[in-house]
Amino acid sequence: MFDARYPAEPYRIKAVETIRMNTREERLELIRKAGYNTFLLNSEDVYIDLLTDSGTNAMSDKQWAGMMLGDEAYASSKNWKRLESTVRELFGFQYVIPTHQGRGAENLLSRVAIKPGQYVPGNMYFTTTRYHQEANGGVFYDIIRDEAHDARLDIAFKGDIDLNKLRALVDRVGAEQIAYVCLAITVNLAGGQPVSMANMRAVQAYCKPLGIKVFMDATRCVENAFFIKEREQGYADKSIREIVREQFSCADGCTMSGKKDCITNIGGFLCVNDEELFVRARELVVVFEGMPSYGGMAGRDMEAMAIGLQEAMQEEYIAHRVKQVRYLGDRLMEAGVPIVRPVGGHAVFLDARAFCPHLEQSQLPAQALAAAIYVEGGVRSMERGIVSAGRDKDTGLDHAPKLETVRLTIPRRVYTYRHMDVAADTVIRLYQHRQDIRGLKWVYEPKQLRFFTGRFEQI
Ligand SMILES: *Cc1c(COP(=O)(O)O)cnc(C)c1O
Repeated sequence: MFDARYPAEPYRIKAVETIRMNTREERLELIRKAGYNTFLLNSEDVYIDLLTDSGTNAMSDKQWAGMMLGDEAYASSKNWKRLESTVRELFGFQYVIPTHQGRGAENLLSRVAIKPGQYVPGNMYFTTTRYHQEANGGVFYDIIRDEAHDARLDIAFKGDIDLNKLRALVDRVGAEQIAYVCLAITVNLAGGQPVSMANMRAVQAYCKPLGIKVFMDATRCVENAFFIKEREQGYADKSIREIVREQFSCADGCTMSGKKDCITNIGGFLCVNDEELFVRARELVVVFEGMPSYGGMAGRDMEAMAIGLQEAMQEEYIAHRVKQVRYLGDRLMEAGVPIVRPVGGHAVFLDARAFCPHLEQSQLPAQALAAAIYVEGGVRSMERGIVSAGRDKDTGLDHAPKLETVRLTIPRRVYTYRHMDVAADTVIRLYQHRQDIRGLKWVYEPKQLRFFTGRFEQI
């Protein structure tokens, strides 16, 4: 039966990968050995892996067939030509530069577009994006609307930029001190929240006369387009393809992680319209990634990406994708579990402060909650709170984000609704004995991106 609220999978399964559940006793020991960091668990010790949607996608039969068509020539492979023309057609930008993944594109863009001391205003930060901006002398400045920091507020476009914040910054420092505006669609750290087309247009209208460029973090641009279609007036009858293209007409370029909305396992690219920026980025790609015709990707990966991008534009695909995520969120909400609302495009974010009111933020509630979810049901999630936020470069103090969350991220085309039930039941069971969750303290804190390899013990 066709259910528009939770549509069944618009695909059938042709290859399977076996997974197994271990015992609670085993998991208690495994998480202790992993330093209470879910990143450090072995994948084979995880039953349902909701750590990330990055590179965890299931490719289609057509993509796998495309892998056999890899033209592994060192220069100008035909797969590159195909990828380049696909990106141009779907995104509408002039120039495309391939990279090994999204952060490779962020590195290139930050190097060519930021002068030391310049500000990079953005709608909330993303870890690797901000790292590259700061490593190149940029100063990240948050201009997301205030409502994005309110975990419970259920509004349509929580990822929008607050133009007053942008205006105030420009008035204070001057337009020449702005490297560019970094506009993420959707906003990962706000909970996968979308940005409206009206907001993109307004940002562009404000920036263009001042000569300020707008670069999008396009990582989840197809999910963003789905929300526009669903929620923004005038878009219900437009195709996802049209909306994606219209989004990018509001920008001067974008960075893209192929590991998300391209439905592949690796890859990325940078797009720009400006020829001078393109020439400089092309000089750098040779040093950091590879020839401008592969940028660290194999020919076969570029072929799979070109096919994946086309598949991502299919209406049934993206409707099922976003609604499957929503299903998990709805089940948790019905059981009273505190989550970030509304449910975003790629993940359900648990509100760890409300889940663990007995823990101070300094006791790392989200880190502790992620570890406890694993022990409860073999489900792997990720901390997105004070641990991920890192320390202030100048003061050395912890950034203390308002949103202290645990992210349950759904890989594309990998799990069924029944798997979502298992994940929901695990979290709901844990919620019923949440007062047993103990706080954590650091035992090893890496200097950069500390959440990946940091280790903890129970207080
Ligand atoms: C994953 C991600 C990136 C970085 O892309 P990688 O391919 O992992 O290097 C950048 N921005 C956002 C919003 C992301 O989710």
